[in-house]
Amino acid sequence: MDVHEYIEQHQGRLVRDLQAMVCLPTVNPPGIDYRKMVDWLARRCAGLGLEVAVHQVPQEALRRAGLELPRYNAVARWPVRAAPAVHFNAHYDVVPAAGKWRCGSPFAPEVRGGWLYGRGSGDMKGSIAALLMGLEALRRTGREPAFGVECSFTADEETGGELGAGYLVRQGLVKADYAVVCEGASGNRVGLGHNGVLWLEVEIEGKAAHASSPEQGHNAFETMAELVWRLRAWKKGLQAPARRWRDPNGQERWPTLNIGGVFGGGTGDKVNTVPARAAFSIDRRVLPSETVTRAEEELRGALEKAAAPLRGVRVRVHTRLRLDPCVGEGTGTLPQAFARAVQRVRRQASAFSATRGFTDLHYFVAEGGLPGIGYGVKGEQAHGVDERVGVRELVQTARVYAEFMQRGL
Ligand SMILES: [Zn+2]
Repeated sequence: MDVHEYIEQHQGRLVRDLQAMVCLPTVNPPGIDYRKMVDWLARRCAGLGLEVAVHQVPQEALRRAGLELPRYNAVARWPVRAAPAVHFNAHYDVVPAAGKWRCGSPFAPEVRGGWLYGRGSGDMKGSIAALLMGLEALRRTGREPAFGVECSFTADEETGGELGAGYLVRQGLVKADYAVVCEGASGNRVGLGHNGVLWLEVEIEGKAAHASSPEQGHNAFETMAELVWRLRAWKKGLQAPARRWRDPNGQERWPTLNIGGVFGGGTGDKVNTVPARAAFSIDRRVLPSETVTRAEEELRGALEKAAAPLRGVRVRVHTRLRLDPCVGEGTGTLPQAFARAVQRVRRQASAFSATRGFTDLHYFVAEGGLPGIGYGVKGEQAHGVDERVGVRELVQTARVYAEFMQRGL
């Protein structure tokens, strides 16, 4: 039996694996059930004959990051003598779930009409299930991968991945020559990179007063409104022709700015009180042609200028997240080999892309110095209500991984 027949015949196992993982609500923030999740993964990988290690992030690092719940990352290896090693990374955390689901509930996954519903089914436990099935297919059909396989299952991608993939890379726990992050492109597309991101929080401190004598206070909310208004005008400049970037598909892309994804006041807010505090968030997406450092300087400069005429208030800008963009060339050994695997399984010409979102790929590429690509299952409604993945899609992705591992670079 070849690996493809094996995977076709063991779809049930693939689906059950995914259901078992979705049942563990690894919701981040705050980072629930991580231990249970890595234990499950460690058992599954050990059952496939892989060498498994679980790395717990030290208390000190948690404290610095202001986190309470423990963080774990699992690494599994299938070493192959005298061959390069390819690292496969997937994050196992999921975003919180709310709303009314059409099918079951977010953490009680059901299969209906060929779709598996559940939080994390698409982003990205589905890719983990596909990867495990790819490895199982090689193992059970008595084949050895054409390169050493190293897998990591990591925490915290949904909040930036510093103590997940970032931790493994910085601690030197990734021992491979190439990296495949199991998201960031799907179908006939192979991902060469992603946008970077900068999150700022702007905090305005005014002075409270009774609403009957507002002249005695400094209204933080009104100040925030003025600031936002000026920022809104400034952001038009991000659309300037010189800022345009073409992705590997030839599609044009510009930097983006989302203002006020989170905004709010302070304790003591009341209809008859002059608000003393207001805050809002900024999400700036950074193109692969830009750097986060430069984007931050520029944005902080714009905020400073916008705040300069404001009287009686203090404006503070806090950096909440900075992730570098990354993009590689499609001509390299890894993207070419992976694209061939995609083509053979999907039976259509492959193409390269770079996602607008961010993934953990930059840790491996920008910090780890490895050539890297992104590829995983195509889900629907990631982060939304009724997140789901097609069973057929899981099978096809498992076949791509198996094909790639078998044929090599
Ligand atoms: Zn993801």
